[in-house]
Amino acid sequence: MVFEANIGAPINRDDLLEKLSANLSEKRFLHVQNVAATAKKLAEHWGYLAVEKAELAGLLHDYAKEETDETFKDLIHKYKLDPALLEWNNNIWHGVVGIYKIQEDFGITDPELLRAIEIHTIGSSEMGLLDKILYVADYIEDSRSFEGVEKARSLAYEDLDAAVAYETLHTVLFLAQKQVQIYPQTIITYNAYVDKLRTKNRS
Ligand code: GDP
Ligand code: FE
Ligand code: FE
Repeated sequence: MVFEANIGAPINRDDLLEKLSANLSEKRFLHVQNVAATAKKLAEHWGYLAVEKAELAGLLHDYAKEETDETFKDLIHKYKLDPALLEWNNNIWHGVVGIYKIQEDFGITDPELLRAIEIHTIGSSEMGLLDKILYVADYIEDSRSFEGVEKARSLAYEDLDAAVAYETLHTVLFLAQKQVQIYPQTIITYNAYVDKLRTKNRS
């Protein structure tokens, strides 16, 4: 079947799955299918009508994750992206720069879909419904197992903003614990959402 979502290019589901399985490890191929299934459920739950676009966002979000550092650096130069990005690594690049690879390989132009994939790791102070669905689905999909994932799963269906806040708080804590650098936009997301979690805990 072909995805009906109007995303700038017709995408045949079987072709997409074939391309994803060729580009991704078995584990990551399962992960993106899980994220797609979770994004679909969240879309239905929160009334995001373009359910197929949410699924596609899940399938495509880590498409560039196994590209080489050289590929990302070339894309940063080719598209004249912020040179500060060169100081980061695959964790940040696979979304923020990965959307250029996705545009090249699939001809996708839909800004809402690309934006959700762009910020799926780091969030934003201004997240739309699809952005939140993908950000949270990536964190809570069925194969994730870490302390707190059950809380994240229940928040995702109770209060989506609180789920974004919970995920961001725990990502920031995790990174600081590991003593690695935190991307500035991750902190901006944290500042924008942290109050939503406090409100939740009080109620
Ligand atoms: P995944 O691609 O499904 O593994 O999930 P994500 O795209 O959400 O995250 C990819 C990796 O980036 C994870 O290991 C996160 O802990 C890490 N990460 C998330 N935010 C930041 C950040 O601000 N700075 C750094 N250095 N790493 C981050
Ligand atoms: Fe990712
Ligand atoms: Fe992911």
